[in-house]
Amino acid sequence: MVTLEQRQNGEVKRTPVGSVLLMAKNDLMDRVVNLCKRRGLVFPSSEVYGGFRSTWDYGPLGVLLKRNVKDAWWRSMVQLRDDVVGLDSAILMAPRVWEASGHLATFTDPLVDCRNCKERFRADQLPESGACPNCGVKDSFTEARNFNLMFKTYVGPVEDDASVAYLRPETAQGIFVNFANVQTTTRKKPPFGIAQVGKSFRNEITPGNFVFRTREFEQMEMEFFVPPEESAQWYEYWCQERYRWYTELGISGDKLRLRPHEESELSHYSTGTSDVEFMYPWGWGELEGIANRGDFDLSQHSKFSGQDLSYFDQEHDRRYLPHVIEPAAGADRATLAFLLAAYEEEDVDNGKGGTEKRTLLRLHPSLAPIKVAVLPLSKNEQLVPMADEVASALRAELMIDVDVAGSIGKRYRRQDEVGTPLCVTIDFDTLDDRAVTIRDRDTMAQERVPIDGLLAELKGRLS
Ligand code: ATP
Repeated sequence: MVTLEQRQNGEVKRTPVGSVLLMAKNDLMDRVVNLCKRRGLVFPSSEVYGGFRSTWDYGPLGVLLKRNVKDAWWRSMVQLRDDVVGLDSAILMAPRVWEASGHLATFTDPLVDCRNCKERFRADQLPESGACPNCGVKDSFTEARNFNLMFKTYVGPVEDDASVAYLRPETAQGIFVNFANVQTTTRKKPPFGIAQVGKSFRNEITPGNFVFRTREFEQMEMEFFVPPEESAQWYEYWCQERYRWYTELGISGDKLRLRPHEESELSHYSTGTSDVEFMYPWGWGELEGIANRGDFDLSQHSKFSGQDLSYFDQEHDRRYLPHVIEPAAGADRATLAFLLAAYEEEDVDNGKGGTEKRTLLRLHPSLAPIKVAVLPLSKNEQLVPMADEVASALRAELMIDVDVAGSIGKRYRRQDEVGTPLCVTIDFDTLDDRAVTIRDRDTMAQERVPIDGLLAELKGRLS
C-alpha cells in the first residue's frame, strides 16, 4: 500500500526496525522531563520568577493526562463497583481531626541541618559516608530533631492560637469523619468503601525527582469499611486489585511489585501494609500503599469527637467498629510512572536506506491526552475545512487535536511523542470518496476507511 508519506513529496515510509534504543536510567528521567516541558505536559511552577521549590504546573496536555489517570481510578474504584461511593471533603478541617488522627503528634520526619551550607536533610536519608549531599563537608550535621510535615495556617483575620488550621496532609481523614454521614445517607452496609480524589499538602524536607515528591500533590484514596473478622481477606483482595489496576493500564510486571512492609515499618495500629512499587529510574519507589488499619481511625474519631461511629449490624444483632482497608495512591506519582513506562525511542527506517529515531509514548488509550489527531494532508483550502468538519463530528465523544502545520511525517511524530493512539488523515481523495486514512501510533499501520461510521471505528480501536 502507498502510504500518505509516500504520496507527499519528500516524505518517507516509516517502518520500525525493531530496536528500542537503550537509555541510561537517569537519561530516561531527563528525556521524560524534557519532553514534558517541550510539549506542554508539565512546566516548572512560577517559571517566569525562576521557579518555586519543586512545584510543578500541568500544561494543556499534562492536565488531560493526569485527569485521565484520576478518571481511570474513579471508574475502577467507584463507577464499576456497587460497594464504593464517592466523596469530596474540605481541605481545611477542624484541628481536632489532626489530634485524633495522630498527625499533630507524630506526622514528623527527623531533620538535620548542615552547619556549613545550612541546607536541611532528612536524617534517615543521609549518605553513609557522612558527607553533606550539598557541599560535601563531612560530619557537619546538627542533631536530628522532629519536624512536623503539616502546613500550618490561620483561619480568619487574627493570627492567634485559636485560629490555627492545617492544610490536610492526606484525604483519608475527610472520609473517616464522614463515615456516619455517608453510611446513613447511602444505607450501605460493611463491607463498603468511600473514595476520594483531591489535593494534599506535606511540607516535605526533601522534595524532588520531578513530580514524585512535592509539597502539594493529589491523592486518590479509598477507605473500605469491613466487619473485623473479614479484614485480612479484604486486605489481600485490595493488594491484588490495586496491583492489577496498574498492569491493566500498561505497566509491565517487570517494572511493578507488591512489597509487604517489614514488621519494623508498620504503624502501631496496622496489621499489614504493602506498597505497590514502581521501578523508577533511581530504583524501586512507592506508587501506592495498601494498609489494614484496624479500627484505629473510627475509634480515635469516636473518642475525640464524642460521637459514636460504630455500626449496628441488624442482621446479626451486633454493634461494632468497622475495620478499615486503605488503598492510598498518588495521582502525580502514577502519572509519572505511566509516562516513564510508556516512553520509548525506536529506530525506524528513514526510507533512504538508513534509520532515524522515533520518540513515542505507548500510553494506554484511556490515558492518552489526545485520542485522535485529525490531519489534513496539506494546508489546502479544501482539505482544511474538511478536516474541521471531521473533527467537529468526533469532538463530542473524543479528545481531538487538529494539526495543520508541517509535513505529514513530522505531524505523525509530534503525535507519537505525546502518545496519541490514532491519527486520521484527510487527503485529496477524501474530497471525492469521503474516506480517510487511520494511522496507528504503535504499528504505524495505515488503513483507509469511510467517513461514515468513522466515530464507531475509532472508538472500537481505542477500547
Ligand atoms: P513516602 O514514603 O514516599 O513519603 P508515604 O508512605 O508517606 O510516601 P502515604 O502517606 O502512604 O505516602 O500516601 C499515599 C500516596 O500518596 C503515596 O503512595 C504517594 O503516591 C502519594 N504521596 C505521598 N506523599 C507524596 C508527595 N510528597 N508527593 C507526591 N505524592 C505523594
